[in-house]
Amino acid sequence: MDSARRQDQLSTTAAAAARKILVRLQDVMAARTPAQAKLNKVVEIIGEELSSEVCSIYLLREGMLELFATRGLKQEAVHVTRLGLGEGLVGTIANNVETLNLEEASGHPDFAYRPETGEELFHSFAGVPIVRREKAIGALCVQHVDPRAYVEVEIEALQTVAMVLAELLSNAGLVDENPGETRAVETGATILSGLQLVMGMARGHAVFHQPRITIEHTVAEDIEVERQRVYSAFAKMREQLDRMAGQAEFGVEGETREVLETYKMFAYDEGWSRRINEAIDSGLTAEAAIERVQQRTRMRMRQIDDALLQDRMHDLEDLSNRLLRIVAGQLGTAAQLGLRQDTILIARNLGPAELLEYDRRRLKGLILEEGSLTAHVTIVARAMGVPVLGRVKNTRSLINDGDLLLLDVNQNRLYIRPSVPMDEAFESGLALTQKRRAAYAALRDKPAESLDGTRIELMVNAGLRDDVAALDVTGADGIGLFRTEFQFLVSATLPQRERQQRLYREVLDAAGSKPVIFRTVDIGGDKALPYLRNSDTDEQEENPAMGWRAVRLALERDGLMKVQARALLEAAAGRTLHVMFPMISEPWELAQAKALFKEQYDWLAKRDKKLPKTVYYGTMLEVPALAETLDFVLPELDFLSIGTNDLTQFLFAADRANPKLAERYDWLSVAILRFLSRIVKTCANYDVPVGVCGEMGGRTLEAMALLGIGIRRLSITPASVGPVKAMVRSLDVAALSAHCTDLLKGGVANLREPLAQWASDNNVELN
Ligand code: PEP
Ligand code: MG
Repeated sequence: MDSARRQDQLSTTAAAAARKILVRLQDVMAARTPAQAKLNKVVEIIGEELSSEVCSIYLLREGMLELFATRGLKQEAVHVTRLGLGEGLVGTIANNVETLNLEEASGHPDFAYRPETGEELFHSFAGVPIVRREKAIGALCVQHVDPRAYVEVEIEALQTVAMVLAELLSNAGLVDENPGETRAVETGATILSGLQLVMGMARGHAVFHQPRITIEHTVAEDIEVERQRVYSAFAKMREQLDRMAGQAEFGVEGETREVLETYKMFAYDEGWSRRINEAIDSGLTAEAAIERVQQRTRMRMRQIDDALLQDRMHDLEDLSNRLLRIVAGQLGTAAQLGLRQDTILIARNLGPAELLEYDRRRLKGLILEEGSLTAHVTIVARAMGVPVLGRVKNTRSLINDGDLLLLDVNQNRLYIRPSVPMDEAFESGLALTQKRRAAYAALRDKPAESLDGTRIELMVNAGLRDDVAALDVTGADGIGLFRTEFQFLVSATLPQRERQQRLYREVLDAAGSKPVIFRTVDIGGDKALPYLRNSDTDEQEENPAMGWRAVRLALERDGLMKVQARALLEAAAGRTLHVMFPMISEPWELAQAKALFKEQYDWLAKRDKKLPKTVYYGTMLEVPALAETLDFVLPELDFLSIGTNDLTQFLFAADRANPKLAERYDWLSVAILRFLSRIVKTCANYDVPVGVCGEMGGRTLEAMALLGIGIRRLSITPASVGPVKAMVRSLDVAALSAHCTDLLKGGVANLREPLAQWASDNNVELN
């Protein structure tokens, strides 16, 4: 017989065996008998159907696996035999969530003999974990007198039965509903760390961006109906993935695209859908069948030590959850499902638009399994004032929905289900932060002036209507970067001119006499808009950050840019307008962008519309090539703003959104500081003011380095204004500049250490 046919036959037999047991089990569990009587009956049925001399159920109680029912072992052992997690065969099964299949039980290194059970008579042993919410709550075991390995059919049937048992046991109130809690009590609270993305502290409860589905029913009433449900769920999921891949052409970061490709591969994998169908044949509902297959995959993966493969399995897990959500009809993210007051959100990764869907009053913190410092989701979170810890591993297995979490990004700590001392440590950290914040608040009306009298312009980055309040709170000098694309990101459709105009007017009104630099839309890269697609190509971009984005897109889709130009010009009627173009790479792009604005200005003038008193034009310098043509562009500019987020990704050829590269290159490398210093000098020659508006300027040591090479304007996240101002006010800029000139001559390739030393020697306040 060929192996495929044999495999088919095996599956059919396994399914039939399991189905018979499931039908009988359901009747038992539905009967109005005491729980113990039910369990006794359950082991009888399983033993009979599998012709097994022994069948036993162990359940986790107070951190120990207790023998709850047995057929074949001595009845005196029931509720007497108890094993710790990891102790004996049963403890090993539960601890590792693995299946054991042994011809000779006593030959296994973890075998622990328990005389009260009388198990010395039985040689062969097979046991499977009873799993609920990815954690073992017990074990189901069979034993035989004869030494024999159990065949696959038997193991399969046992695993399916164990799955249904998990549900039946919990419905009967026989197990602790939250095994995670049990484990936590046992192992104490957990502390994790990650990559500090947005500083801050938050207390709240865990909410998963993609909520976990709790399976209500595991046993199918009508197998055909279940089969149909899975079939349409697959179709729907494939459709969704195709659509996502279609949108990806507009620009998703490399990692996301890779994930999407893998998703598609799994979604169309015949093997996966076949295994789910086989599980349905054994009598499971669609949900239970998906979960059953996933459990089996998880168990297998625990035995494989290959990081790459583990990553792929993580993807399959994600996809399996998606399929489950479709089948269960629970499609919303936590944002759509009503958020609790004090949410600490957990996600693998998020797009900036997805994050903006959350109610910022309820969202206290964010934990990402991936994430990097300059990815736009991080920037948006910073703008929302939400602390973020990135690259935190294994969140799904270590954190339960609703767990109390204390997030202290300042100290790079995430306390899960904290103990009292942890809570105290967190609280004293919080008190310290509040004290520091109060000290910064006291600086609000003091100038950002150095000890030797150099005035630094401290502005804030913004993008949402409410961000303007930061001007007042921080006492900043203006908005140095208003990311207009945020409005596009939060909108389901392209915002019309009236809506854009209204926002710009409100922002100008709120800013009063302080300047606001509006950057024209920088869409593309990791800021993809589903409603805007690349018209030229139906293919995905290989490198969206270097692709069809920002002015490249806006100049081609000039309708979009014209609308924005008119909205800005009309919103600033009678006032001063600062316009800035992103991603300018060559002088002609600047010329075209300016010409487009001027055209709109003339068009409005002809119609006697009220116009701005003055329009100042600036550009971002974030593409290195522009630095080589400053002699062409500076005469055309009123100001220049260096976007170090993009600039450094292009200088180092290191994707800003790739978590693997997040810590690889340093802003304080000589490479970057020399590059920036040349730009600053050229701008001085042309008498064009230059600032920095990337995330680099919001960190005190980095900001100090920027001042050291001659930068006098920083546009930073509002939370950084206080710390940076304190740094400026404790600094002698002239002495620092002389030191930086020396350092940049050579000798050390990374200036972090020498600059930190200089700051410490000169009592510069760094935070
Ligand atoms: C930058 O690139 O540094 C910048 C400020 O723009 P964004 O982060 O929006 O790309
Ligand atoms: Mg940029």
